[in-house]
Amino acid sequence: MNIILLGPPGAGKGTQSARLVDHYGMRQLSTGDMLRAAVKAQTPVGIKAKEVMDRGELVSDEIVSDLIDAELAALDADTGVIFDGYPRTEAQAHSLDDLLAKHGRSLDHVIELDVDEDALVERITGRYTCAQCGAGYHDTFQQPATEGVCDKCGSTEFKRRPDDNEETVRTRMAEYRAKTAPILPVYESRGLVRRVDGMAAIEDVTNSLDAILG
Ligand code: ADP
Ligand code: ADP
Ligand code: ZN
Repeated sequence: MNIILLGPPGAGKGTQSARLVDHYGMRQLSTGDMLRAAVKAQTPVGIKAKEVMDRGELVSDEIVSDLIDAELAALDADTGVIFDGYPRTEAQAHSLDDLLAKHGRSLDHVIELDVDEDALVERITGRYTCAQCGAGYHDTFQQPATEGVCDKCGSTEFKRRPDDNEETVRTRMAEYRAKTAPILPVYESRGLVRRVDGMAAIEDVTNSLDAILG
């Protein structure tokens, strides 16, 4: 099973990917996570990408497609993949077709998380993650069971992304509308698109995804 999770920043792609990884043993391939790892490690790609990411713009198609290619090459063939935050442009969608063919895979579903843009700023500005294990939280919508302690690993250290501020989010939403939303009709014409109400509670969104995948 290979699926794409599509949706603007804050739609819930990362949150739902983590749940699918737990339930189905799939692998999440998040270009955002890969790029942040590259920035942290100060690799040539990371150094190049940092400023672009801080502005909320898209890094080059070639950079992200190369990252995906390397990840797919390292995966065994029967591990299902969730593409999270990739593809984000028409050029990336074409590259993904080529990469899937190259690695002997095909797309099963393109799942669009349908969300209300007005809610996204609140989701993004309240987002934080465990500094140790990366588990995702929200100031209001997804708090740890014990305040200040990660549910998954017990760590008490958390972090916020530098690009999770209102100004950058507006740019990221505009990038989504201009460059990413236009790839949906391509997948629609292939009969791959499934829409899920991303404004529902986290658990309910997971149930909708289970209904599609199960
Ligand atoms: P994306 O990966 O699409 O950018 P995230 O999964 O990181 O989005 O979600 C953004 C923030 O919103 C996180 O803090 C997360 O806890 C919260 N969140 C995710 N899904 C929901 C939901 N259905 N309802 C309320 N908050 C949500
Ligand atoms: P979100 O889901 O919250 O929008 P991501 O973690 O997916 O954020 O992406 C963070 C940033 O990384 C983006 O704003 C962009 O600069 C860069 N990025 C991630 N994935 C891609 C991609 N597929 N193409 C171009 N840039 C990307
Ligand atoms: Zn943790």
